[in-house]
Amino acid sequence: MGFRAPLDDISFALRRVADLEGEIAAGVAGELTDDLADAIVGEAARFGEEVLAPLNVTGDKTGAKFSDGTVTTPPGWKEAYRDFAAAGWTSLVAPTEYGGQGLPFLLNMAVQDIFNASNPAFITGSMLSIGAVHAIDEYGTSELKELWLPRIVSGEWTATMNLTEPHAGTDLGAMRTKAEPRPDGSYRLFGQKIFITYGDHDLTDNIVHLVLARLPDAPQGSQGISMFLVPKRLLNDDGSLGATNDVVCGGIEHKLGLHGSPTCTMLYGSKGEGAVGWMVGEPNRGLQAMFLMMNRARVTVGLQGVGVAERAYQHALDYARERKQGRPIGKKGDMVPIIEHPDIERHLIDMKAKIAAGRAVCYACAEAEDRSRAGTDEEKSVWSERVALLTPVAKAFSTDLALEVTQAAVQVHGGAGYIEETGVAQYYRDARVFAIYEGTNGIQAIDLVMRKLPLAQGGAITRFGQFLREQIDLVAASNDPAFGHTAEILKAALEDLTETTKHLLGLLIGGKYNDALAGATPYLRLFGLAASGTLIAAGAAREGRSGASNPARVALARYFAENHVGQTASLRTIVTDGAASLFAANERILAKG
Ligand SMILES: Cc1cc2nc3c(=O)[nH]c(=O)nc-3n(C[C@H](O)[C@H](O)[C@H](O)COP(=O)(O)OP(=O)(O)OC[C@H]3O[C@@H](n4cnc5c(N)ncnc54)[C@H](O)[C@@H]3O)c2cc1C
Repeated sequence: MGFRAPLDDISFALRRVADLEGEIAAGVAGELTDDLADAIVGEAARFGEEVLAPLNVTGDKTGAKFSDGTVTTPPGWKEAYRDFAAAGWTSLVAPTEYGGQGLPFLLNMAVQDIFNASNPAFITGSMLSIGAVHAIDEYGTSELKELWLPRIVSGEWTATMNLTEPHAGTDLGAMRTKAEPRPDGSYRLFGQKIFITYGDHDLTDNIVHLVLARLPDAPQGSQGISMFLVPKRLLNDDGSLGATNDVVCGGIEHKLGLHGSPTCTMLYGSKGEGAVGWMVGEPNRGLQAMFLMMNRARVTVGLQGVGVAERAYQHALDYARERKQGRPIGKKGDMVPIIEHPDIERHLIDMKAKIAAGRAVCYACAEAEDRSRAGTDEEKSVWSERVALLTPVAKAFSTDLALEVTQAAVQVHGGAGYIEETGVAQYYRDARVFAIYEGTNGIQAIDLVMRKLPLAQGGAITRFGQFLREQIDLVAASNDPAFGHTAEILKAALEDLTETTKHLLGLLIGGKYNDALAGATPYLRLFGLAASGTLIAAGAAREGRSGASNPARVALARYFAENHVGQTASLRTIVTDGAASLFAANERILAKG
């Protein structure tokens, strides 16, 4: 099935939910103009629809292949990558000093939104390269930056992130990969990493790995981890490709989805020499450097969810218009398209609303990221807090919604959804990992409660609550009856968010950490519903104010508020009262004291 980039919805998210014009006016958008933004997004749509989307099914069916120590990507991917890099898509948000275009993260959201819908397995490699560029730019020496960044930025080479080891997944403090210093200032790495996305491939002739490892005298745990740049191929003095480094791919995983994206076991120092690398950032502060990369990647994983959900929705919508079954109650005659049955209508509108909700949170987070780089120190710090607060929500809420949307797409297809030939099952399989990698969604919820709520002594979440209140006032002030009960429901949701936040902060202050952790996942959902419901409704109200009122947008915001946001009331009860029943059940059922 062909893919149509949802340009209108993307423009809404860019300009009414987030504030692209405001970013341009504030000087945080580089050389971008409003027209240029449209041109870039339009070109991304063309590339996504014509080049990447047709390769999505081949990628799934053929998958990446491993043989004789090397990885081959699916047919057509090499050519597509060459055109992708030549068109400048690898350099969009990279710093201009290294050949990048210096465009804002918010615009990149729109582009990634389209590319992820087109072909998530293809785009996931270059998403990681963008993150690596920012980490090297922020923490690398000028020598490292000058040598490696221009060729990653141009797309000539790709980059990876190497954290996970067999015994160290979520708990990175347990990692064992070693880095031994050499007199010339370089290091030799020994160890095994698993699940490394695009750890090896045939798209480029070099791959730059960012690897977490321990120095010989490093403290135990996460305080003893450093970050290293380790290339697949070393460079000669003139910058040309030299010897192959002692880093090899030991195999690739056979996965539920994302078959075109090679997920590699990487062996460092298996030949005995040790893989040559250079430290990026300070000794034992590697996690901090890697977190810069991961936080960016977390928002883009949220967007992977949005993109794949969009594709699944379009597939389901087309099918529901064509497939004829049954008749409306009390009517005789021919069978009607299933889209005419209220239960299918609900599935479809639910999907559309959840996509808008996930998209809104991701774009709002990206806007905060751009704005955190300009203005006074105080302004920068307030925006940085917003980024920190929204990142786990953008990642987990959007990818949880993506699972719901892709599973609904299978359901709309009935039995045909369960058959691979229709293609809709691929979205469901592909989307499954978004809730797992870059820190599982459970870990995002824990991050939100344990680290983000206490930010600025609770100031970050208080300021965000004030922002939501202003947005709800905007919806109420529109006096548009088409909003139904939206403003009241959003007010109640904000109250639920405020009260559960107070409750959780109280538990943290009182040292009742397990009680707080027990409510983390329902709290993140509550946060996501309150925030996204407000963002899409306020965006629709702003659109109305500007004279470009779109009744469909108001109807969708109302639907989401009246059918989903209201769930914050029951989530509030779970967050505030659910721990006791959970622990009681644990004692009886899991036999955990
Ligand atoms: C397709 C794919 C691509 C990947 N790409 C990369 C990559 O490029 N680079 C890389 O370094 N890694 C990558 N990963 C690894 C990924 O980030 C990890 O799988 C993920 O972080 C979870 O770690 P784990 O699999 O070891 O699960 P575990 O850590 O074993 O977790 C198992 C379960 O326990 C929960 N859990 C664990 N600890 C806690 C805790 N303290 N409190 C509450 N719950 C907890 C988790 O939420 C999870 O549900 C990839 C994984 C996949 C599947």
